[in-house]
Amino acid sequence: MSILVFGGSGFIGSRFIRRWSQHSSTEIINIDKLTYASDQSNLEFINNNAKYFFYEEDINNKNSIREIINKHKPNIFVNFAAETHVDNSIESSYEFIKTNVLGVQTLLDLFREYYNRYQNDSNIQFVQISTDEVYGDLQDNDSPFTENTNYSPKNPYSASKAAGDHLVFSYINTHSLPLIVTNCSNNYGPNQHREKLIPKVIYNALNNKSIPVYGKGNNIRDWIYVDDHCDALIEIIESNTQYSHFNIGGENELKNLDLINQICDILSKKLNNTLDYKKLIKYVDDRPGHDYRYAIDNSFIIENIDWKPSKSFLDGISDTIDFYLNKYKT
Ligand code: NAD
Repeated sequence: MSILVFGGSGFIGSRFIRRWSQHSSTEIINIDKLTYASDQSNLEFINNNAKYFFYEEDINNKNSIREIINKHKPNIFVNFAAETHVDNSIESSYEFIKTNVLGVQTLLDLFREYYNRYQNDSNIQFVQISTDEVYGDLQDNDSPFTENTNYSPKNPYSASKAAGDHLVFSYINTHSLPLIVTNCSNNYGPNQHREKLIPKVIYNALNNKSIPVYGKGNNIRDWIYVDDHCDALIEIIESNTQYSHFNIGGENELKNLDLINQICDILSKKLNNTLDYKKLIKYVDDRPGHDYRYAIDNSFIIENIDWKPSKSFLDGISDTIDFYLNKYKT
């Protein structure tokens, strides 16, 4: 048995590899293009493990990926590889379409080819990691997203992820393949790139730089600790579920400004100083088409899989801040 992870050198992929390796001794193969968003130091803990294999490769390179698949013959495929920063997708969406749509199509075709050869093996499965952003956004009184909520993406990133998901659903319907799509809410935790909100706030605070807040900071996100997300994926994979679509949420909605204020307060406490990092907050022009609120209804995964988020936000954000304090210390 082995697991093939695409995009394992990024934020969630690297935490997933860590969680998986703590939980199982199977061979782990990581294929990653090593874009600016990746960080190989996140995988130092496993580099020397004889059961870990890394290949620097673009998921669009069909022949190379086919060779790796044929060499290792994995039974579990998990795709984290993606362009993920909304702001970049607003500047230019080309790379987003290439990886998040065409890349997914390449992987699905390779999986189809492989599955048709080994379909007697009922353990073969492919999990496509996606986001709650494909559902569009909510207003204050709207019910959280369920698996039945229609897709309504509103920025180029979420549109590219939605297109990738639609391809997966279409391959399930047309080719009867064992594919699963998971839509998770905003992850936080160690290993995230500094372009993303939480590491950016910590980095800027420590370096006495302004902390940019879009609009009035009223946008709401449902934050989940990254290891809770990874554990949900492991439970889904191991459940041999008949279902092909799961939402995964943190049950922890927060306004951006409240989150930033909380981080500033915790930083002062941890560093034992009287600095008011909140003074660094600078309101900047809102992101064009900024989604107002995301929230996930976890009922389906809780009913059908043995999982619910377990890390409290206070513990999660404290561990996260410790990680970045250590990483960014001069
Ligand atoms: P990330 O940007 O930190 O990492 C993405 C990884 O994919 C990087 O290592 C990068 O090098 C790799 N990659 C990019 N293009 C590639 C290509 N063409 N071929 C091979 N590798 C490539 O992203 P993340 O935050 O870890 O997100 C992982 C997945 O989870 C994405 O699909 C994202 O949409 C989804 N997701 C993220 C969040 C979140 O809050 N971060 C929430 C829900 C879902």
